[in-house]
Amino acid sequence: MDEQKEVSRGEQLRKALCYEKKNGYDRLQPGELEALEAYCAGYKQFLDAGKTERECVDRTVALAEASGFRRYTRGMDLKAGDKVYLVNRDKAIMLAVMGRKSLSEGVNICAAHIDSPRLDLKQNPLYEIDDLAFLKTHYYGGIRKYQWVTIPLELHGVIALKNGQVIRVSIGNGEGDPLFTIDDLLPHLGVEQSKKPLGEAIPGESLNILVGSRPLADDDGKDRVKLLALELLNRKYGITEEDFISAELSAVPAFCACDIGFDRSLIGAYGHDDRVCAYASLAALLQLDTPERTAVCMLADKEEIGSEGVSGMKSAAFDTFMADLCSVQGVLPRVCYEHSFCLSADVTAAYDPNFADVYEKRNSALVNYGVGLCKYTGARGKSGASDASAEIVAYIRRVLDEAGVIWQMAELGKVDAGGGGTVAAYMAERNIDTLDAGVPVLSMHAPFETVGKLDCYMTFKGMKAVFEAV
Ligand code: MN
Ligand code: MN
Repeated sequence: MDEQKEVSRGEQLRKALCYEKKNGYDRLQPGELEALEAYCAGYKQFLDAGKTERECVDRTVALAEASGFRRYTRGMDLKAGDKVYLVNRDKAIMLAVMGRKSLSEGVNICAAHIDSPRLDLKQNPLYEIDDLAFLKTHYYGGIRKYQWVTIPLELHGVIALKNGQVIRVSIGNGEGDPLFTIDDLLPHLGVEQSKKPLGEAIPGESLNILVGSRPLADDDGKDRVKLLALELLNRKYGITEEDFISAELSAVPAFCACDIGFDRSLIGAYGHDDRVCAYASLAALLQLDTPERTAVCMLADKEEIGSEGVSGMKSAAFDTFMADLCSVQGVLPRVCYEHSFCLSADVTAAYDPNFADVYEKRNSALVNYGVGLCKYTGARGKSGASDASAEIVAYIRRVLDEAGVIWQMAELGKVDAGGGGTVAAYMAERNIDTLDAGVPVLSMHAPFETVGKLDCYMTFKGMKAVFEAV
C-alpha cells in the first residue's frame, strides 16, 4: 500500500514539476486536424505561385487586395481597422492592419523572408562548348552544391531593358514548358570525384545549366547551338545577348509542393525556408479584424545572403514605412519601436534521426511538436544571435499558451556543430524586442525541403496570437 502511494506521489510530482514534450498530434483540439489540412492546401498554392521573392510579392499583393488591403501612399489618412501594404522594389513587402491603440504604444510585428537559396545566372551567362549550350550561375545563399545537379530546374526572373521595359520570365511552371538541368558525372567514371569531400566534389563554377543542343540549320559559322538559343529568346522576349547584363534570372527547382508520407502528414517543396513562415504571418494578418495594437507583417528579401541591400531587412525601407505610419498620429518612430514586439519568423532545423550526431536532442525542434521558439541563434558561442531576454520568452509562452498554440523550444544543432542567423538581430538593433520562432524543417536549404503540416498550422496560429496580443 505504502509503496503504491510512493509511486503515485512521484507521478504527481512528475506531472506537476517536470517539463515534458508531447507530440502535437496528441494535443490537437477537436476540428484542428481539418483546419490544418485546409490551411496547408492554401500554403501549397502559395509555394507553387511564388518561387522567387518577386513572385511571392505578387502573390501576397493579390491575397492582400482580396482581403481588403489598399496600396499605401504617403500622407494617406489611417484609422483603426485600415489595412495597407507597401511593396519595396518588387522584392519585399510590408503590410499593416491599424490597431485601436496609438502607435506610441508599439506594434506587433512578424518578420519573415521570401528569398530562398537558388542558382542565379551570371550577367554574361550563355556559352557553347562542344555543341552544347549552357548558362553560367552564381549560387545564392547557402547551398550544398551536390544537391543541385541532375534535378529539373525552372528559370524565373526579370530582364530589364534600357528603354525601361521589364520583361517577366517564368519558364518551367507553365503547361508544356521545357525544363533545365545541371549534369553530373556517371558513377562509372566518378572514381576520382567520389574520393573528394562532399563540399568539393561539385565546384561552384561547374554549376552550369544545360539549355540546348540543336545547332542552327543551314549555317557553317561558330556557336550554332548558342545562336539558336538566342534566336528563340529573341523571338519570345525580344532580347539580345547583351540584355542578360541587366537581368535577374534564377534557376529554381521544378518541384511543386506535395504531400509526403502514407499519412500525408508532411509537405515536400522548394522554398519552405522561409515561405512557410512568410505565409503563416501573411495568412494570420489577413484574418485580423481590428487589433488592439497595430499589426505589421514584414516579408523581406536577401535574408539568405545576410539581409544586406536595399530590399533586405537592414534597409531603411522598413523604418521609412513605420515612420510614415507614425507621422499620421504624430508619434516618433523610436517611441513606437521601443514598445514594439517582433517575432522573427524563420525556420529552424528539425531534429533528423538520420543525422542524430549533429543535434542535441533535448534542445532540438522535433517534427510535429509545434512552432519552434529560438531564444538565440548564431554560431560559436551565440555569435551573431539576437538572444531574446528571459522576459520576452516568458511573454511569448503566455501568449501562445493562452491561444492554445502547440510550441516547443528549438536550438539549431549541437554547440559548435555549425549555426545560422535570421533577421532577428536587425530588428533588435532597431530597439525592438525580438524573438525567433518558426517551423522546423528537414533538409533545410535543399532543393526539396520537408516540413510537418501540424507545425505549419501551429506557426500560423502562433502568428495570429502575436498579432492579437494586447
Ligand atoms: Mn530562413
Ligand atoms: Mn535559410
